[in-house]
Amino acid sequence: MNTNYGVLWLDSIKEEARSLRVIAAQEGSSVSSRASLNTAAASIGGFSSYYQARQKHNAFISEFDSRRSGCRYCRYIYVKGLSSDRRRHESYHRNYELAEIHLGNLPDSYHLREKKKHFFSRIYSDSNFPLNKRVRAALIHIRTHFDRSLEAAINNGYYQQHPNFDEYLAMVHPKIYRFPEDVRVYLEEYHQLGTKYGPIEEGYTYWYPS
Ligand SMILES: [Zn+2]
Repeated sequence: MNTNYGVLWLDSIKEEARSLRVIAAQEGSSVSSRASLNTAAASIGGFSSYYQARQKHNAFISEFDSRRSGCRYCRYIYVKGLSSDRRRHESYHRNYELAEIHLGNLPDSYHLREKKKHFFSRIYSDSNFPLNKRVRAALIHIRTHFDRSLEAAINNGYYQQHPNFDEYLAMVHPKIYRFPEDVRVYLEEYHQLGTKYGPIEEGYTYWYPS
């Protein structure tokens, strides 16, 4: 299994070091911050020093997507080597790690969403394809909007309240999509598309907490 040397991993080393200092204090002794971090880095990651663990972590979360000028994982756009950007990136990255644990996976990136929209719109619009295939394509199109809404929720800290896909489907107004009528009717009837609209304003695809 590949270890995730992300932000939560480094947090766990710092947390362990803090408990080592608390235990030492309770026993009437003391341990320096550096020594406690080194011990924690050894017990959690098998590193000979905290410095080494930190290097490993830095390399891990700096996987840079140069085409997008951002992090491959959390998609945060930043300037390489700028320390204020590095701190902001860490906090952004931590949010994504927490969201992934909570949600089980992460929303598709902007570029993947755009590709899917483009590809699947040709399928649901083409009446030569069977209806079930066109309905599936339309659902994928709606999911790209769901993912965008969820991404905004992660970035703004309310992803835990964000509706799941089925709930979202019921909340979006069906007329926002220019689906062919047979596809739209099927989605309304069998997937409850738009049957509970209201929480998402008509004409919009972002969900916001009330
Ligand atoms: Zn990141």
